[in-house]
Amino acid sequence: MTLVGCIGGGQLGRMLGLAGLPLGLRFRFLDPSPSAPAADVGELVVGAFDDPVALARLGAGADVVTYEFENVAVASVVQLGALPPYRALELGQDRLVEKEMFRRLGIPTARFGSLAETGLPALVKSRRLGYDGKGQRRLDADEVISDHELAEEIVAFDRELSIIAVRGTDGETRFWPLVENAHRDGILRVSRSPVQGAPQAEAEELAGRLLDELGYVGVLAFELFDVGGRLLANEFAPRVHNTGHWTIEGAVTSQFENHLRAILGLPLGATGAVGSSVMLNLIGGAPPSEQLLGLPGAHLHLYGKEPRRGRKIGHLTLVGADEETVAETLALVESAADG
Ligand code: AMP
Repeated sequence: MTLVGCIGGGQLGRMLGLAGLPLGLRFRFLDPSPSAPAADVGELVVGAFDDPVALARLGAGADVVTYEFENVAVASVVQLGALPPYRALELGQDRLVEKEMFRRLGIPTARFGSLAETGLPALVKSRRLGYDGKGQRRLDADEVISDHELAEEIVAFDRELSIIAVRGTDGETRFWPLVENAHRDGILRVSRSPVQGAPQAEAEELAGRLLDELGYVGVLAFELFDVGGRLLANEFAPRVHNTGHWTIEGAVTSQFENHLRAILGLPLGATGAVGSSVMLNLIGGAPPSEQLLGLPGAHLHLYGKEPRRGRKIGHLTLVGADEETVAETLALVESAADG
């Protein structure tokens, strides 16, 4: 039996487990919460993410270790030789370093750096997640920006897109079709794929440059702004991603299965779509399952989390649904959402 260790036992870990069980894999998760959602699909080590003893327990006997969130300490990933490689994590944890890498690779971005470079109004973001919260604020007048922050030009984008990519240990790279994403209050609400007139080839080319530069292994999500058909990179996440959940039913191989295939050195699966998909997050509350499962083409995922304001407790994917069903479902899900 192959044992996969995962730093983090949230819904992403849970969905990794659900994808890996049919492949004969077993799972062990590290999470500070004894009621972590992934505990239903594997063994759970309860402990802090940066506790070397808990990490050692996670890694003992594991064939490979991975992680499900990008705020893991680099030292933890190094200790366990976890994949994706720590370098991707390190570069992605600092927005300034990340943007400078994009620039070095010739990947277009919004102007960034100091206010002299961006002009006003600008968006000021904390460089590190977890530093000062996840805050970003709009600046309309000159102000001193601390070393912990980064200014960005405010982009009048037409739409927000993401591309989910996977790279194997042998460097083979595959991409799922582009996704269009809608956020509200900083939380992803809806993802749709395919996207009309999507600049797929350009997105793959840019993401491919990033994956090769990082010597990446596993699934990576790359968030982009579409500005009049021109793509600007916003950020990447070195992990399976909420904007890729539709691939579970909407693609030949899901992001979760391909992540596991990649980190285990197995052949990658096909990433084509099997139809049109719309993924809706269930936030803070969900309509009754009876109602959701009555919708044509609906697939329900509940994460086993206690509903709390603004918390993702599940998602629903509609495959091959007509626009009327999509609109109805959006309204239904919105009415039950809290936050
Ligand atoms: P981020 O934390 O960088 O993912 O930003 C969160 C959200 O803020 C994005 O999904 C966009 O909707 C918006 N945003 C981020 N950067 C910019 C920008 N430079 N211009 C306009 N909107 C932005």
